[in-house]
Amino acid sequence: MGRIAIRADHVFDGYRFHNGPVMVVVEDGRISGVDFKGAVCPQDMTLVDLGELTLLPGLVDAHAHLCWDPGGEAEDLAGDSYEALVRRARRHAEAALSSGITTIRDLGDRDFATLSLREEYRQGTTLGPELVVSGPPLTRSGGHCWFLGGEADSTEELVDAVNERAARGVDWIKVIATGGFTTAGTDPWQPQYNGDQLAAVVEAAHRVGLPVTAHAHATAGIAAAAAAGFDGIEHCTFLSESGVAASPNVIQAIVARGVWCGITIPRVVPGMPEDIVALVQGMWRNIRQLMDSGAHVALSTDAGVAPEKPHDVLPLELADLSRHGFTGTEVLTGATAAAAASCGLGHRKGRIAPGYDADLLAVAAGLDEDLAELCDVQAVWRSGTQVPLQPSGLP
Ligand SMILES: [Zn+2]
Repeated sequence: MGRIAIRADHVFDGYRFHNGPVMVVVEDGRISGVDFKGAVCPQDMTLVDLGELTLLPGLVDAHAHLCWDPGGEAEDLAGDSYEALVRRARRHAEAALSSGITTIRDLGDRDFATLSLREEYRQGTTLGPELVVSGPPLTRSGGHCWFLGGEADSTEELVDAVNERAARGVDWIKVIATGGFTTAGTDPWQPQYNGDQLAAVVEAAHRVGLPVTAHAHATAGIAAAAAAGFDGIEHCTFLSESGVAASPNVIQAIVARGVWCGITIPRVVPGMPEDIVALVQGMWRNIRQLMDSGAHVALSTDAGVAPEKPHDVLPLELADLSRHGFTGTEVLTGATAAAAASCGLGHRKGRIAPGYDADLLAVAAGLDEDLAELCDVQAVWRSGTQVPLQPSGLP
């Protein structure tokens, strides 16, 4: 792999914007240098001059479901063959890459279908995003996401399930701590496990060196996950039957323990009923409150779970969030440096800095506090290799 220098008038480095020209030097798939002072391109390097475009780290979608068909019925996954799951995951991963998402944490597949894809992309036989994967999440019999095949009821079954996943080589353990929206017969504000069971899962996961994250909507589930020592809490919506009601005490525990809040971005879509719009607005306020309290917040999609959540939706959702009370810097950090750190990849993903993987995204000029241009992707590099862009499937 050669040495290239990429120059752009504007750069977002994972934490802040810089006006340039800024030059990023890439060698052997990694960023070897960043110059903010207008240095000339070294003689022995190929210069890629992006002119007035904005260069940023490839986006990290810290919560997605590659096996899921956004337009399909989630329960149908139970009947899919392994080959069909892998085929679908591949199509979705490559669409995401083309939209500038260079790292994906898959938090719920079936049959461990994302693991072979992860290996294929890691070895570089196919160009794809970096994947970190959990395999099927642990859930109660008939509980939320039961159709992914990770049912475990007793403490013993939970611990066995953790050990099985470790043996198969997953990167994360995912536990469904409360009910959810996409599974009939489960209730987002009901816990699925008690505190002792959650603590047993954390202990089992940490014993084999794996981080563990919990799906939790209801305050009781969020509180239980934080108390049990989870590394992350997905959604973290503080939902109750009467709407979003964050608990300051629980937020305090989240901050004190340094738990990552894996926010899946809520968005108003056309035709949404009034009460759901109000719920989304409550969720925006909740994200604000978490950020202002000093909680670690990563922004992600939950791609795959609904028609408005295709696997390349992250740029659109980030742009949307930047219009609802969040600065462009907050939003971009949430899906680059912070998202990478939330996945345990903060040392090599999500920043433009020496030593980081050369996963890069160039978007149309003028990206600053308004992120509309994030959807106008001009170029994507994965480990220094430029990705051929495919047309977006976004509506
Ligand atoms: Zn999810």
